[in-house]
Amino acid sequence: MKKKAIMIIIVLAAASLIGIILTQLYWVGQAYALKEDQFDHSIRISMKSMMNQLQDHKNDSVFREELEKIRCRKLKIDVTDIIEPHMLDSLINQEFYLMQINNDYYYALYNKMNDRFVTGDYDGYENELLNSKFQFSVASLYKPGDYFVSVYFPSKKYLVMEQLNFWVILSIIFLIVLLINFMYVIYTLFRQKKLSEVKNDFINNLTHEFKTPIATSSLAAEMLLRPEIEKEPAKIQRYASVILDENHRLQDQVEQMLQIAALETGSLHYRSLKVDIHQLIHNVLNSFEILMKERQMDLQVKLDAKEHFIIGDREHLQNVFSNLVDNAIKYSSGKAQVKISTWNVHGGIMIRVEDNGIGIRKEYQKHIFKKLYRVPTGNIHEARGFGLGLYYVKAVVDHHNGRIVLNSQPGTGSSFNVFLPFKSQKK
Ligand code: ADP
Repeated sequence: MKKKAIMIIIVLAAASLIGIILTQLYWVGQAYALKEDQFDHSIRISMKSMMNQLQDHKNDSVFREELEKIRCRKLKIDVTDIIEPHMLDSLINQEFYLMQINNDYYYALYNKMNDRFVTGDYDGYENELLNSKFQFSVASLYKPGDYFVSVYFPSKKYLVMEQLNFWVILSIIFLIVLLINFMYVIYTLFRQKKLSEVKNDFINNLTHEFKTPIATSSLAAEMLLRPEIEKEPAKIQRYASVILDENHRLQDQVEQMLQIAALETGSLHYRSLKVDIHQLIHNVLNSFEILMKERQMDLQVKLDAKEHFIIGDREHLQNVFSNLVDNAIKYSSGKAQVKISTWNVHGGIMIRVEDNGIGIRKEYQKHIFKKLYRVPTGNIHEARGFGLGLYYVKAVVDHHNGRIVLNSQPGTGSSFNVFLPFKSQKK
């Protein structure tokens, strides 16, 4: 998929996701406002019902007679003679109990003209009660003065939210699931894109690696078919050896592919025999001798390990060092230096393959043991490969319970430290 198409998909999906989140927030906000309205409405109904009960009480004939007696005694009727504090308290309590609001309220009967509190349960909440939106005039019950019953709910927000809890939590869960899915899809999309790039690179390299030996050997074969060649036996020899060399190269490459395939399916066969690591390193260096001479490379060998026998698979371990030396040569420019050293550490042997080549930048170092990974060098370096060598190396070292560590500085060189324990090959 084109980069632009991917970006458009991501932008559209992200915009839709933000849209959904905003819509959800809007609906939760609306639902909250609706619930709050319902709450306010029920408070008003409760208070109205309380007022009606106080009115009924005031109109009661027994109470009227009692009121007359008070009037004769005191000459003046107080607001608390009509709205008796204990009655107000129990009526409010009863009404809010029906609404399932138990102790979460404060109330007061006060005179609005001078903000004087007459009765109620209001300790510490005077200001809130004076500014509460639930104010109910008692003018129909008592005059003169401007008396009000005010109610305040300190945990009103919580009470309203409580009724919404289920929906809010459900929305949040759905949003989180959606967000995780979205991120996973984006991650997969990028991964797929990367994989397809890696696959294309691999096919390009494969074609190139196979084309060159095929072209070279067919050219040599054509030369051999020329009639005049019979008179030049030296040339016959040279062309035949070119064909043979190219054939070996192809064979090696096919072998490498087969080994990786076997590694993938877990059918790579390992033997557990006594292996002389120093002998193995000499074998590897012998096979690179001609190439190194051709390139005028400086080779330093410092095999100091006293104990250099381990239990492992000779063939795979030889391939490991062969790959490391091959890379040291391949990724060096100018007059290259390759250094191989060994020494003993607790429980095993350490082998270091060093070069003064192009090095590997920090950000690429963590990837180089991954399958098909090649450092993107663009056209700077012409070294060909499949990005499978170090993947195989790591698998073999891991199989021997060993460790491989890279130290590298771009422009200065790389060194691969391989630790192999004496005896710990997995069964
Ligand atoms: P390749 O077939 O590409 O060489 P490898 O798995 O052997 O595959 O190496 C992976 C990548 O690591 C290479 O493409 C190269 O960029 C980098 N690399 C490996 N060894 C060295 C080295 N000695 N110096 C610099 N870069 C290296």
